[in-house]
Amino acid sequence: MQNFRFTVVDKANAKMPVVTTAPEKETSKYYGCNVFNRAAMRKYLSEETRRSIYETVERGATLDKEVANHVAEGMKRWAMDHGATHYTHWFQPLTGGTAEKHDSFTDPRRHGEAMENFSGKLLFQQEPDASSFPSGGLRNTFEARGYTAWDPSSPAFIIGDTLCIPTVFVSYNGEALDYKTPLLKSDAAVTKAAKGILEFFGEGDEVIHSYLGWEQEYFLVDKDLYMDRPDLVLTDRTLLGHDSARNQQLDDHYFADIPPRVLNFMRDLEIEAYKLGIPVKTRHNEVAPNQFEIAPVYEAANLAIDHNLLLMSLMKNVAERHGFEVLLHEKPFAGINGSGKHCNWSLGTESGIGLMSPGKTDEENLRFLCFMANTLKAVYDNNGLLKATVLNATNAHRLGANEAPPAIISSFLGKQVTEAFEKLLASKDMVKISGKKGYSLGIPQIPELLVDNTDRNRTSPFAFTGNRFEFRAVGSSANCSGPIMVLNTILAYQLNIFKKAVEKRVSAGTPVMQAVLDETRETFKACKNICFDGNGYSDEWKAEAKKRGLDCETSAPVIYDQYTTKETIKIFKDTGVMTKVELESRKEVYWEIYCKKLAIEARVLSDLTTNHVIPVAIRYQSMLLQNVKGLKELYPAAEFKKMAASQMNLIKRISDDISSAEAYVIKLDKMEEKLSKMDEDRKTAVMYHDDVAPMLEKIREHVDSLEMMIDDQMWPLPKYRELLFIH
Ligand code: ADP
Ligand code: MG
Repeated sequence: MQNFRFTVVDKANAKMPVVTTAPEKETSKYYGCNVFNRAAMRKYLSEETRRSIYETVERGATLDKEVANHVAEGMKRWAMDHGATHYTHWFQPLTGGTAEKHDSFTDPRRHGEAMENFSGKLLFQQEPDASSFPSGGLRNTFEARGYTAWDPSSPAFIIGDTLCIPTVFVSYNGEALDYKTPLLKSDAAVTKAAKGILEFFGEGDEVIHSYLGWEQEYFLVDKDLYMDRPDLVLTDRTLLGHDSARNQQLDDHYFADIPPRVLNFMRDLEIEAYKLGIPVKTRHNEVAPNQFEIAPVYEAANLAIDHNLLLMSLMKNVAERHGFEVLLHEKPFAGINGSGKHCNWSLGTESGIGLMSPGKTDEENLRFLCFMANTLKAVYDNNGLLKATVLNATNAHRLGANEAPPAIISSFLGKQVTEAFEKLLASKDMVKISGKKGYSLGIPQIPELLVDNTDRNRTSPFAFTGNRFEFRAVGSSANCSGPIMVLNTILAYQLNIFKKAVEKRVSAGTPVMQAVLDETRETFKACKNICFDGNGYSDEWKAEAKKRGLDCETSAPVIYDQYTTKETIKIFKDTGVMTKVELESRKEVYWEIYCKKLAIEARVLSDLTTNHVIPVAIRYQSMLLQNVKGLKELYPAAEFKKMAASQMNLIKRISDDISSAEAYVIKLDKMEEKLSKMDEDRKTAVMYHDDVAPMLEKIREHVDSLEMMIDDQMWPLPKYRELLFIH
């Protein structure tokens, strides 16, 4: 018989690391070489054109069409000098990935001639045939056309032979069909609202941005082993597979030595990222075996998100060269940690003021407490909506499991900030905030340590970490725009309310700073229930959270209702970020995606069980039966009984698991057939959640039990211990 396991594992083990070298020794020499950045602009654009484009990027000024023509000409020359032959509008449809359609720079002319052409018009706007992207009914009810339009605040870049131009993607009537459009609007809304608050502090001229630093977690799996797992190939996660005897119990993978083949992958990835100006900074092993993390230095949120999406596709490409497959799924393996993408989010000014950082003076600290209180109030009022931005078919496996944030949104502030707020509640005056403290270890050769003003709480989904909030519930495969756009929007709405309340106090005679202080106190008082510094996994917290009025829903299809509550619609309308129609369409898209993902998983598991696992189980069972028959022929009855007892028991247990698995598969197939004929809307999504998802678990239980009984040599799929420990 073919020895499946040996050949596959041997092939994987035999791989040598691919060694890569950077184009130059010093990163700074080639950093951003494939980006149409300021250095490139200086070479390819006139000073006048440059000034207009900087104005657009920094202040959001609208770009003149004439200037766009100059930019397009310069961009084309730069791209062609760098080997590009094609260009594409690069956009972010609601599928979660990115999309591009390449066009050649070359235009045929008469008499068989051709010339390179790229005008401002082509740079500004295109109409891709986009009828297959999810629109949540937007294009059915109105017009089938979709338009992409240039986002000058994110620089163009070259991948391979193609100039990629970041764009928004909207319908004929201007409704958002993508992630970028509402993100840009939310950034404009929150920066405007924050400016309104800074006016109280005499800082109304500052240019403000929302900032994001993401931490991307991922798994690497040997490509050959991956290809032998149809579930990984088709669903990005293992739908079956028994625990490996050793997984992460020893906690010996976190921050451990990076294996050489993985390190080479990481280096190669970093080189490619630097060429695209992605400021990656940190790399390390994560908690689970074969799990890793890469994180950049934070940037303006819009750019950070483009960079994250670019990096995710780079990861896939670079992994290919190293014989790996990257798994970005939130929970590729049951029983061990899943992957998140912590979103470190803050507001700050271009001059370097962190609006979520404590300062040195009373006034700076009041500004800090004011933005903190407003953020907490916004999160408290919209905790269900915030959850809706992170909960989906894939991240549902992670939220609430043991390593990840729980499915209840609460905030951890740390000791110093909690104390500051407590003092504020108890007094009418401004409070002091303790800064970094010196701390001596008592070892003469080691200088005093500076201890941060927040401790850490790994279980909090929305934790304050010194100068930013870290939203940890975001999933590893997500486009961060979903949650960041909502954070910006709810904060903008809350800041506008706050501003009005302060103005009211001021017109009643209260001095401005006192009015801000009093309103900050009231704001915090109204939302202190969102603060929780304890263990987010405990059952007591679940009960307590319910009492505090926090959303405890765990079903993704149900939580999507949050997109169209009366309050959500009002918030999005008042801030101008999305209309009711757009919100409704988003919800429809999310239900549709949920149904599709579950339907694919159901079909793959049904196929794997019926065509891969059960036939092997029967074959092994027949071998056992053959053996028992042989024993019976050769040995006297009493002896036979003793000798065959355990085998007969095994035969029976295999039989039981086969029958149960098969019975569930039949049920699952029937369910799937029925659901596939229904519209992919709320009702269907809820049925997938309530009926199909638990059925997948039941089948898995029996299949995993078979895995433990059947001859290892015969098992048709790479096992957890191979997927997780070969690198
Ligand atoms: P940890 O794992 O300790 O949370 P990392 O260094 O892996 O920290 O990631 C922290 C991320 O937060 C980095 O991307 C960092 O640039 C980013 N960050 C730091 N300060 C801010 C800030 N004010 N606003 C947004 N992001 C920030
Ligand atoms: Mg972190």
